[in-house]
Amino acid sequence: MSTKIEIEDMITVGSLAEKLMIPATKLITELIKNGVMATINERIDFDTAQIVVGELDVDVELVKKESTPAPVRQKKQASEKAQERPPVVAVMGHVDHGKTTLLDAIRTADVAKGEAGGITQHISAYQIVHNKKPITFLDTPGHEAFAALREHGAQLTDLVIIVVAADDGIKPQTLEAIRFARKAGVNMIVAINKIDKEGADSNRVKQQLAENGLQTEDWGGDTITVEVSAKNKEGIDKLLDMVLLVSEVEELRADEDVPASGLIIEAHMEKGRGPVAVALVESGVIHPGDFVVAGGTYARVRNLESPEGQSLKEAKPSSPVVITGFKTVPRFGDEFSQVNDEKEARLQSEKNATGRKADGGRGGVGSSELIRIIDRSNKLNELNVIIKADVQGSIKSVIDSLRAMDTDEVAVRMVGSGIGPVTENDVHLAHSSNAIIYGFNIGMPTSVKQTASRDKVPVRLYKVIYELIEDAKQEMSKLLAPEVVETEMGRLVVKGIFKTTKTEVICGGEVTKGKLLAPSFAKVFREGDLLAEVQITNLKHGPTDTKEVLQGEMCGMNIATETKLDLQEGDRIECFTRETVERNL
Ligand code: GDP
Repeated sequence: MSTKIEIEDMITVGSLAEKLMIPATKLITELIKNGVMATINERIDFDTAQIVVGELDVDVELVKKESTPAPVRQKKQASEKAQERPPVVAVMGHVDHGKTTLLDAIRTADVAKGEAGGITQHISAYQIVHNKKPITFLDTPGHEAFAALREHGAQLTDLVIIVVAADDGIKPQTLEAIRFARKAGVNMIVAINKIDKEGADSNRVKQQLAENGLQTEDWGGDTITVEVSAKNKEGIDKLLDMVLLVSEVEELRADEDVPASGLIIEAHMEKGRGPVAVALVESGVIHPGDFVVAGGTYARVRNLESPEGQSLKEAKPSSPVVITGFKTVPRFGDEFSQVNDEKEARLQSEKNATGRKADGGRGGVGSSELIRIIDRSNKLNELNVIIKADVQGSIKSVIDSLRAMDTDEVAVRMVGSGIGPVTENDVHLAHSSNAIIYGFNIGMPTSVKQTASRDKVPVRLYKVIYELIEDAKQEMSKLLAPEVVETEMGRLVVKGIFKTTKTEVICGGEVTKGKLLAPSFAKVFREGDLLAEVQITNLKHGPTDTKEVLQGEMCGMNIATETKLDLQEGDRIECFTRETVERNL
C-alpha cells in the first residue's frame, strides 16, 4: 500500500523532496521534464506536485491538507461609485507554444520594431488600446509568477488566454493553465497558435479541448477559440475583439477614491535609479509623492512611469506601473498599499518584515538568491553555464535560446541562474562546477571581479542577447568532437607483389589517377570492396626513393599493415590525406 503524505496547497520544492525522501535535484529534473522551471526554494501547487509524484518512481499518495486552507484574498468589492476598469489578461500555455511571441505581437501590433539584437526586451506587463478600450496584459514568465498569481486567487487576472500550438496540441502545461483558470473562476479564451505551420491542425486541438471539458463553439459549447499566428501577426485583432467581448460581459469595475493597492509583479535594482518595482494597481489611484508599503519595504513614489518608460501623473486601476523610490527592493508577489505618511509607511513595513520572519521567510524569490537548477541528462559534452540577468524574463529568453542550440552531441547544462549582479557565490559555484558565468544587462562588483580572476572563472557580460548566445555557441562548438576529413589524392592498380611479411608488403603498380604520396594513408580495394586500411611508407620511382608519383607512371611501394595483407594483382590502392577540422554548431 502506498504511503500517504499530507501537503498544503502550496509547497516548496525543497520540502516536497524532503517529504518524499528523494534528492531535490531529482524532483527538479522531473519538474523540468514536465515543463515547470521551479527551483528548490520556489513553491509549486498541489496539482503540479501530484502530477510529478505520479511520474516519479515512489510509492506515495499525496493528500491535500484541508484543515489549513490557503489564505485567499477576497476580490475587492466595488462600491456604487466604482468606475469601469480595463481587463487584466494573462497569457499562459505550454512552453514553446508561443506565449512570448503572442505577447510581443500584441504589444507591437502598431509599434515599430527595432530593439537590441532583434530580440524583444522583457516587459512583465503592458497596456494596449484596442477599439479605444485599454487592455492590460501580464506576462507570467516564470513558474513563480504563475504560483503567485494563483495564490492571490487570480484576483489580478480577469481573463486567461490559453495558447496552444496547433501543430503540437494540448500538453501538460496547457492542462495546468486550464486548471488554474478554472480554479480561479476566470474566463478563458483559447488562442490556437502557429496556424501558419505545416502540420497545424486546429480541429485536433478543439477535439482535445473537448476531451478536457472545454467544448468549443463549433463543438456545441461556449469556449471561445481564436486561430492566430503570433509569428505572422494574424488573427490578433480578432483575439483582442474577443478579449473585449468577454470582459464587457463581466462589467469590470474598481473604486478610484480609496487608498491605492495592488501587487508587485516585478522588482529589481537598477543602476542610478535604485530599487525599481513594477506594480499592478487593483484599486485606487497612485500619484508621484504618495507613500506606499510593499511587504517589508516602503516608498515615497519618486517616479511613476508606464512600462514603456513614459512618465505618468497618475496610475488607475488595472494599470501596470513602474515605481521608483523604494528603500529596498520589494519582492515579487508582495502586496502594496497606499498609506498616509512616512511614519505610517515605516511602521507598517517594519511590521510586515517581522511577520515575514516569523513566517519562516515564505514567499517571494529573493533577488540575490542563486538558484540551483538541474542535472539534465548524461549527454556526453556539456557546457556548464550560470546565467545572471536583470529580470526573470531575460533569464527565460537566454535559457530558451541556449536550449535551442542543444544537439545530440553537445548541450548546455544550467548549473544555476538568478536575478541581479554576479556574486561571490556565483563565482564559487562556477569554479567548482567548471562553468562559464553569462550575465545579461547586469554588472559585477570589483571584489567579485577579483575573485573571478583569481579563480580563473570566465565571466562574460553582455547587453545584447544575440551576442551572448553567439559566445555560448562558440563555446559549445569547442566541445564538438572535431570532424575527420579524408581527401582522396590518387589511385594505383597493383601489377606485381614482391614481398609479403606479417606487417609489410612490397609491391608495384601503375598510378591510374591523381598522384600517390609517401608517407600517406591508403585503402586497399578488391573489386570495389574495402580490404584493409594501410599506410604507404615509401615510394620508388625506378631505383630512386621518391615522395610522389604521378598519374600514368609506374612505381614500387612499401606498405605497412597491422595484420597480414594478402595483396593480389589487380587490387586497387587509394591514397588519401586525413585532416581533423574543428566543427561549428
Ligand atoms: P513560449 O515558450 O510559449 O513563450 O514560446 P515562444 O513565444 O518563445 O515561441 C516558441 C517558438 O515558436 C519560437 O521559435 C517562435 O518563433 C515560434 N512561434 C511562436 N508563434 C509562432 C507562430 O505563430 N508560427 C510559427 N511558425 N512559429 C511560432
